[in-house]
Amino acid sequence: MGSKALPASPEAFKNATWDEIVPYYEDLAARPLDKSNAEAWLADWSHFESLLSEASALVNFAYSCDTADTSREAAQLRFGTQISPRADEQRVRLQGRLVELGYERPGLETMLQRFRNHIDTFSEQNVRLFAELSELVTHWYKVIGALTVEWEGEEKTPSQLLPFLSSDDRRVRERAFKLRAKPYLDQRDVLADIFDRMYDLRQKVARNSGFANYRDYAHREKNRFDYSPEDCLRFHVAVEEAVLPAVERLDKKRKRRLNLDVLRPWDTAVDPAGRPALKPFDEIQTFIDKAGAIFEHVDPDFRGYYETMERENLLDLENRKGKAPGAYCSTLASRKVPLIFMNAVGVNSDVRTLLHESGHAFHSFEASRLPLVFQRHPGAEMAEVASMSMELLASPFIDEANGGYYTEEEARRSRAELLEGIILFFPHCASVDAFQHWIYLDPAGRHADARDQKWLDLRRRFEGGGVDWSGLDRERIARWYQQPHFFGSPFYYIEYGIAQLGALQVWRNSLKDPKGAVDLYRKALALGATRSLPELFKAAGARLIFDSEGMHELVSLVVEELANLD
Ligand SMILES: [Zn+2]
Repeated sequence: MGSKALPASPEAFKNATWDEIVPYYEDLAARPLDKSNAEAWLADWSHFESLLSEASALVNFAYSCDTADTSREAAQLRFGTQISPRADEQRVRLQGRLVELGYERPGLETMLQRFRNHIDTFSEQNVRLFAELSELVTHWYKVIGALTVEWEGEEKTPSQLLPFLSSDDRRVRERAFKLRAKPYLDQRDVLADIFDRMYDLRQKVARNSGFANYRDYAHREKNRFDYSPEDCLRFHVAVEEAVLPAVERLDKKRKRRLNLDVLRPWDTAVDPAGRPALKPFDEIQTFIDKAGAIFEHVDPDFRGYYETMERENLLDLENRKGKAPGAYCSTLASRKVPLIFMNAVGVNSDVRTLLHESGHAFHSFEASRLPLVFQRHPGAEMAEVASMSMELLASPFIDEANGGYYTEEEARRSRAELLEGIILFFPHCASVDAFQHWIYLDPAGRHADARDQKWLDLRRRFEGGGVDWSGLDRERIARWYQQPHFFGSPFYYIEYGIAQLGALQVWRNSLKDPKGAVDLYRKALALGATRSLPELFKAAGARLIFDSEGMHELVSLVVEELANLD
């Protein structure tokens, strides 16, 4: 049986149209399939998907490195709007063939579980609705992207005001804080209207797939086989019980160190000791080289992985005009190497970002040994354990004595900022998740005023009373309109909270036995997506935590470490 010969490299797909790609799917859909040739069929399909996915990753990388180049933009759009949605439809078709055949073997259990789930949640009627949703997301991006403020006679984007929130002049901070919220409040009705339209489409999508509401659909669609919406509600309660007291103590300490009577929201980013911002490097090459030295201490193989990326020009780290914002790691599935994209400008958070993305990259190196592309990518819950653990595992080595960026005192300050940030993240994570549970379950979630009121209630519930928000309800409401996930990636957030608790357990293990903890971490990464989430956590020396006891143990450890750093 002659199967359609695949090109030798992904280059062939970089400029391909859908019409040139679909024959490969057609071939896989038409070829006779039985249990005796299923393995070869899967290997061919996997090989084709890795070429296509690598072409897409390269096109996306090229565009993010130079967004002004119109041919790169066109290629990126072709993949996003023409190829990806149609390829997804084709995949359901091929997944269906394998599932119907009833072919099974050890190592494919979780893959088949995801295939069956994809088939179950897929509905033909939703293809058009997803296209409408994606148009609304594009529209929302345009509205958000056009928001500007006037700061000292200059036009700026709201995020360009962020550095002023760290100013040691309190009046500057207050002005920047209020001005940052203003464009969102001015556009509130427009944004609320976009959200209403997304809401209606999402509830329709859920009903088409046989679910009572979008919350339940989203949980299933995200392959959340091992925890339920009720577990997420337990997670929210645990944040209140186990994290909130620590948050309030941190607020109190900050108020005391800043010598203030009341802590206002514009006092939360400034250095409490009045020191200038940390400056880890001047030259980008120094930034790159020192990370290599740091990874050597965590595991010499990690340094090897990292240097492979550098040698093969797969690190684009420096901020330049024309680059897309943000940071990411993606994998070239056929070459089996990852790449890292970011916008370093010489601040402390650049170090954290590089360590984070490198954790994703090491995950990719370890999991790429698995033969099928379908076995390599677990969900975000485990992917973020890989990256968040690396922030913590590498933090003992960021000082000059270990080849890193900082003097001993600066390194302590950077470590304290990392740990404080971890504690302060949980209230935000819980508010974002709880808000969406309420929105899609309570009919009041369809009403703009009720949503704003609910957000205020949830912020009070999860943030406690350490920061004085009196007279600032409007600014507080503006915060939810600034959170892109509500608009672009609904229900994608609790994963970060779950993963952070996994990463804290890996870090806890490393305090007692650094080598043992890293060995387990590597073994877990190498399993890719071939085990269930609880099993992957277990392999890393951790467990899934939704309870306040588990959360409390880890928060206490962070608090203790923070006291040591003082
Ligand atoms: Zn990440």
